[in-house]
Amino acid sequence: MSDYQLETLCVNAGYTPGNGEPRQIPIIQSTTFRYESGEEMGKLFDLEAPGYFYTRLQNPTNDMVAAKICALEGGTAAMLTSSGQAANFLAMFNLCSCGDHIVASSSIYGGTFNLISVTMRRMGIDVTFVSPDCTDEELDAAFRENTKLVFGETIANPALTVLDIEQFASAAHRHGVPLIVDNTFATPVNCRPIAWGADIVTHSTTKYMDGHGTGVGGAIVDSGKFDWMAHADCFPGLTTPDESYHGITYAEKFGNAGAFITKCTAQLMRDLGCIQSPQNAFYLNLGLESLHVRMARHCENGQAVAEYLEKHPKITHVSYCGLPSDPYYARAQKYLPKGSCGVVSFEIRGGREAAARFMNSLKLAAIETHVADARTCCLNPATTTHRQMNDEQLARAGVPAGLVRMSCGLENAQDLIADIAQALENID
Ligand SMILES: *Cc1c(COP(=O)(O)O)cnc(C)c1O
Repeated sequence: MSDYQLETLCVNAGYTPGNGEPRQIPIIQSTTFRYESGEEMGKLFDLEAPGYFYTRLQNPTNDMVAAKICALEGGTAAMLTSSGQAANFLAMFNLCSCGDHIVASSSIYGGTFNLISVTMRRMGIDVTFVSPDCTDEELDAAFRENTKLVFGETIANPALTVLDIEQFASAAHRHGVPLIVDNTFATPVNCRPIAWGADIVTHSTTKYMDGHGTGVGGAIVDSGKFDWMAHADCFPGLTTPDESYHGITYAEKFGNAGAFITKCTAQLMRDLGCIQSPQNAFYLNLGLESLHVRMARHCENGQAVAEYLEKHPKITHVSYCGLPSDPYYARAQKYLPKGSCGVVSFEIRGGREAAARFMNSLKLAAIETHVADARTCCLNPATTTHRQMNDEQLARAGVPAGLVRMSCGLENAQDLIADIAQALENID
């Protein structure tokens, strides 16, 4: 299956039915699995034989959908989680514990920023944030003896900066640690971070992968490329026996291809239980089947809307890396040659009043705290997600009061532009 092109993998990877079996991935809506002998089940518990015994650890529907995402990203193993937040937490916590340190791009999703800078700090894990535009020297200076990983987003939500994946991967590898890339906005259709040196890829599948606003979910994919045993002292969780799991040494027993995801499943999913329901995994797979077709349209609409806005006198600034005027245009041409995503952010002359009036005047685009689904939606951070901040604080956070984030859906681009045009006419 891995020899096929991406479009074919979107439709077919992860599940090949046998003679007379269901054509579509079956939903195995069962918490547990029956065995005829206790010995057989014992082997499963010891990870001596493959198979299912309890859905908190593994479920066939989830595994089939994870296998598709794994094929799309070009990894060796993958797992689903209950949300994108869970995916990023598990991926990072699988490598570090109290007393360790993370290097992360400062341009990341707000939820991930809180997770790292507040919640993980409370667990004794420290972080140094670096600009996505930092020099190699600045990046090198962020590392410490106890650094365990580097984290960034291919296209950051909501800043829409583009990560120099090769630069961040080289720095991580110079310091003997892996690079984790959250590839939610680009999806593997537009960028495959593993091909550029990323070691682990995460997703909020809630966004384009699901694509219909149906289910919250996440995924983690391992490239299988990081050599844990070569950095054994740095990653004892992978390279020494896990006494909580029958003394297994993950890197020895499962090799570089399987150690990371096996540990993350057998240890973290076992203890934290943030699983995706098989029903949601089924919906996610329906989204994946058309991901390649949808991404092309999201990008087409995003580009058309961004080009229209850039020429409009009431718009003072547009961020979209598909515009030649965007500071991330060159980087996007390298990492995202097929397009970036459907999310465009722009600033309206007149601050928060003008932005609120513009949004209230939209007839087609809805006001939502969401991005990346089939229906166009928008948000003014100053009056919603960031409403506790005054104008000065907003400016310092890089979120001006008049900023609108619009997620272009799959509608006709001229209809979207006409809606924006009539709403802009409503502001003086
Ligand atoms: C939405 C999002 C998340 C969090 O995902 P949830 O599924 O909402 O938990 C993480 N990273 C990025 C880039 C996101 O856009």
